[in-house]
Amino acid sequence: MRRLRTTRSIRDLVRENEVGPANLIAPYFIVPGAGKREPIASMPGIDRLSVDLMAQEAAQLQELGLAGVLLFGLPEEKDEIGSSAWDPDGPVQLAVQAIKAAAPELTVVTDVCMCEYTTHGHCGVIGPRGDVDNDETLDLLSRTAISHAAAGADAVAPSDMMDGRVGVLRAALDEEDFTDTAIIAYSAKFASAFYGPFRDAADSAPQPDGHIKEDRRGYQMDPANAREAVREAVLDVEEGADIVMVKPGLPYLDIVRQVRDAVPTPVAVYNVSGEYSMLKAAAASGYLDERSAVAESLLAMRRAGADIIFTYHAKDFASWNQ
Ligand SMILES: [Zn+2]
Repeated sequence: MRRLRTTRSIRDLVRENEVGPANLIAPYFIVPGAGKREPIASMPGIDRLSVDLMAQEAAQLQELGLAGVLLFGLPEEKDEIGSSAWDPDGPVQLAVQAIKAAAPELTVVTDVCMCEYTTHGHCGVIGPRGDVDNDETLDLLSRTAISHAAAGADAVAPSDMMDGRVGVLRAALDEEDFTDTAIIAYSAKFASAFYGPFRDAADSAPQPDGHIKEDRRGYQMDPANAREAVREAVLDVEEGADIVMVKPGLPYLDIVRQVRDAVPTPVAVYNVSGEYSMLKAAAASGYLDERSAVAESLLAMRRAGADIIFTYHAKDFASWNQ
């Protein structure tokens, strides 16, 4: 086997997978106001940005050849049902417009969920039993997705894990003539400990209060299950998802491969905040070389079958490869 490993050019000739900026989407957290850059303590190198600074950032990302951005919003006000999620002047809606003006080549994806907008931090409306009411939530998700499409988003990405939401969003978008807005479904989103830093970043940790459940295990997937993940992805494709996603990434590469083999659509993977912060901490302590560990991690996700990688390493990785 070593014959094909002897020189760099031979290794290049026989390489099976590659990863580059064109495969990557960078997530961002948008705050209200102007001139705001707020570092996130648990995610070194990642800042929450106001719309104006996001627009400047987007121009740099386009220059670096990155495929796109994924936007999360931190609203001024939260309430029980998360009604600021569909505010046409919300941080995400304004950021979409600003990015489209500053960096028209970038693909703009918006996260569609209620947890950043609800006072209790759950991904939908709370029903009488203290858990999220699936069907009541669908209408709110539709309103949110339509507001993102109206702002100019190329794709909406529902991350709520409500049953039936892809079909409902597709119908709602089509009804409003947003037939070109794609849906990237967080199809297999596991109830993972690796989301910890994100909940700091997006201020979206569930707030247990009286009868309200303290975690999301009632709607996110059990980390023990793989067949169920495939079922989720197949259902989302049937409902009209253009792209399906597996989240988290590195601990779930077996799921990426199984989903890749089961559906005809492109597959995305979300290299989540905990994976990012773990690697940053190890690099800061001198335990790992950051650049090579990031490159190897992203390549592993491509090898597992991901066409698209959502990753906080995107900008760094692209700038190291200039
Ligand atoms: Zn959520």
